[in-house]
Amino acid sequence: MLTWANEHQDEYLNEMLRLEGRGYPAIYLTCGGCGRADPTFRCEHQTCYGPSLFCQPCIVQRHAVLPTHWIQQWDGKYFVRQSLKDLGLVIQLGHPAGTSCPNSTKVHKDFVLIDVTGIHDIALNYCLCDSNIKERQQLMRVCWWPATVRTLQTCATFAVVRLFQTLNCLGKVSAHNFLKSLELLTNNDGLVPVPDRRRAFHHIVCQYRITLMMKHAGRGHDPSGVHGTAQGELALWCHACPQAGINLPDGWDNINWDAMPEDLRCVSFFFRGGEGLQFWSLLQASRYKYFFSSHRIAIFGSL
Ligand SMILES: [Zn+2]
Ligand SMILES: [Zn+2]
Ligand SMILES: [Zn+2]
Repeated sequence: MLTWANEHQDEYLNEMLRLEGRGYPAIYLTCGGCGRADPTFRCEHQTCYGPSLFCQPCIVQRHAVLPTHWIQQWDGKYFVRQSLKDLGLVIQLGHPAGTSCPNSTKVHKDFVLIDVTGIHDIALNYCLCDSNIKERQQLMRVCWWPATVRTLQTCATFAVVRLFQTLNCLGKVSAHNFLKSLELLTNNDGLVPVPDRRRAFHHIVCQYRITLMMKHAGRGHDPSGVHGTAQGELALWCHACPQAGINLPDGWDNINWDAMPEDLRCVSFFFRGGEGLQFWSLLQASRYKYFFSSHRIAIFGSL
């Protein structure tokens, strides 16, 4: 840290400033895709196609499966952020990326997709080639979770839901603060209104958690399905919990508490947990914290 502070701070600052411009001639004189002169578009994330500049058709075509990347357009002095929807990208569901559907239908004009890069307006078409595949199923098959089952207007990518789940369980990040962060990633100056999708995001996270529990419990492989789930079948096996014959001393169920020295009684005791699941466990005191925190994280994570 000291070496960086004393010798390299200016270098790092200059490199950051350098990214505000177009870079060196080899990447901005001709389009990185078709070779056309004077390209003006690049991807803000640069994790997909690097710092090269592209013409509009090439940047749109290269983001056919990356609709939540932000695009920057060089206006002669600086880069201006653009959305792929404004540049003409239309996602076609039900067919390989970049191909068209002979029986497509447009979605709601205000369709919004929440992703780790922000909150995006998206233009997409559903496929009507197979009427058995519902529109919401087409969304799930590209890893977008719809907030409603009818009048589909908001989705969240599986990636952003997983990120929130982890941050919420380990970092105690609330849905409100998480959504606020995504809004700032979308528009940091607050001058452009960002679609308010808090209620929709809550629905998505609740559905995701319930469905994940069902999946982990194997309910998808049971003919009776989700609604055939019996009481307690979603409880997790906890390796920290005492199990008879594994990590409990012989005679654990016949302890003579009166004969046990008073200062050792706290080592073993019964614990009863609630919130939908009932646990009768003989716990060692040192395991209490792990038991409680692990079950909260796995099951009861709150919004
Ligand atoms: Zn091009
Ligand atoms: Zn990109
Ligand atoms: Zn089709």
